Amino acid sequence: SNALEIAGLTKTYGDGFQALKGIDLTVREGDFFALLGPNGAGKSTTLGIVCSLVNKSAGTVKVFGHDIDTDLSAAKVNLGVVPQEFNFNQFEKVFDIVTTQAGYYGIPLRQARVSAEKYLRKLGLWDKRDTPARMLSGGMKRRLMIARALVHEPRLLILDEPTAGVDIELRRSMWAFLEEINREGTTIILTTHYLEEAEALCRNIAIIDHGLILRNTSKRELLQQL
Ligand code: ADP
Ligand code: ADP
Repeated sequence: SNALEIAGLTKTYGDGFQALKGIDLTVREGDFFALLGPNGAGKSTTLGIVCSLVNKSAGTVKVFGHDIDTDLSAAKVNLGVVPQEFNFNQFEKVFDIVTTQAGYYGIPLRQARVSAEKYLRKLGLWDKRDTPARMLSGGMKRRLMIARALVHEPRLLILDEPTAGVDIELRRSMWAFLEEINREGTTIILTTHYLEEAEALCRNIAIIDHGLILRNTSKRELLQQL
C-alpha cells in the first residue's frame, strides 16, 4: 500500500507567491524517501500541508489511503512529524513533553509512559527525563523532537531537515537510528538540501525546485545519471 499519495498539489501563499505548482508524489509503505531540493524549493510547504499545518490551495493528499480533507483524524494517527523548529514547551520536562504528546492521541497514561521510556532510551535521553527541555543541548532537543513524534508509534515518520545544524557525529547517530526504525517497518520521509544525506539514507529520491518535482527516482538510478 501507499504511505503517502499527493496529487496535483498547489500552494499559493496569501501574498500571491506560488510555492507549489502542482506536484504528484507517491511514497510506498516501508520506503525511506527523500524530498531533496535547495532552500525555497517548497519542501517545508509540502510537508506542512501533509501535516495539516499549512492549508493547500488545490490537490489531494492521502496518508495510508486517508484523505486529509475528509478523514484527517485517521490520517493523523498514522503520522509522526518532526518540524524544523523546536516547538515544545521549553520549561516542561523531557518525559512530560513526550507523554503529553501521547495524550493528544488518546493513549492512556500508563501506556504513554511505557512508550515514552522506550523512545527516550532509544534516543539516549532517558537520563535527561526530568530535565526541563531548555537545559538540553541542540542535538538533544532534536532527538527529543523525534521521541515525541514516535510516541504514538506512527506508521509514517516525516522529518523536515532533521540534521540541519547538527554536528557530524550526531548526524551519523541520527542516521543510524532512522535506519533502525525504518528496518523495523516505519516508513520515513525526510526533506534535505544535502545530496549526501539523501544518498546515505534513502531508497527513493524526489528532486524539488521552484515548486515542481523535477525527478522522482530510485537512488541508484539518480546516482548513475549524475
Ligand atoms: P524549502 O522548505 O524547500 O526551503 P519552503 O516550502 O519553506 O521551501 O518555501 C517555498 C517558498 O515559499 C519560498 O520561496 C518561501 O519564501 C515561500 N514561503 C514560505 N512560507 C511563506 C509564507 N508564509 N508566505 C509567503 N511565502 C512563503
Ligand atoms: P505549547 O508549549 O506550544 O504551549 P504544549 O506544551 O501543550 O503547548 O504542546 C507541546 C507541543 O505539542 C506543541 O508545541 C505542538 O507542537 C504539539 N501539540 C499541541 N497540541 C497538539 C495537538 N492537538 N495535536 C498534536 N500536537 C499538538
